[in-house]
Amino acid sequence: MTFAKLGLPAPLLSTLDALGYHQPTPIQDKAIPLILTGKDAMAAAQTGTGKTAAFTLPILAKLLGRERASAYQVRSLILAPTRELASQIGESVRSYSQGLGLRSQIIYGGVKAHPQINGLKRGTDILVATPGRLLDLFNQGEVKFDELEYLVLDEADRMLDLGFEESLNALLAALPKARQTLMFSATYSDAVKTLAKVWLNDPEEVAV
Ligand code: AMP
Repeated sequence: MTFAKLGLPAPLLSTLDALGYHQPTPIQDKAIPLILTGKDAMAAAQTGTGKTAAFTLPILAKLLGRERASAYQVRSLILAPTRELASQIGESVRSYSQGLGLRSQIIYGGVKAHPQINGLKRGTDILVATPGRLLDLFNQGEVKFDELEYLVLDEADRMLDLGFEESLNALLAALPKARQTLMFSATYSDAVKTLAKVWLNDPEEVAV
């Protein structure tokens, strides 16, 4: 299988070529065409399987050629359990979206909020965030979700283990209902299944 056959557009194919990604990994093979159809998805995938590209590439494909986020708004949101993971995902997003003219940002707690607030003012096409800090900024009116179309819950099991259930539920309740939601989790505990049941719409399951 090739990335072109999975339905990714030319600008992304050149980037992947430049990055030396010659073949999709198994999770990318399954998840990319499914996400491109617009369906909600629930994927079982460990770190190191290429899951970041599996959800980021189809979202970038969908954002391409569309309007950019307005001031304070977010077009796509990737939630992750820790600062380290959010930073890693944010770096991957930056490398996959180079040259596309999309704005991406990383938000996490434990550092000053001011620079993050400044960055959000111009609008964000791809926001990678930990739930606690993002909820704080939302409650302060520093970020808005009216234009949100794509949501990824990455490492959902770890977000719940780390006690983010309440923040997650508050954040998810603030998002538009008409959106595509993708959940990635290494394990499917009862709590993860409940989260999926409440917040995903008839998800297709992907396992590798
Ligand atoms: P992840 O599971 O998203 O943390 O990705 C693990 C590593 O695999 C990262 O360093 C990616 O840059 C790399 N990677 C992801 N997809 C591919 C691919 N199709 N070909 C080569 N490397 C990849």
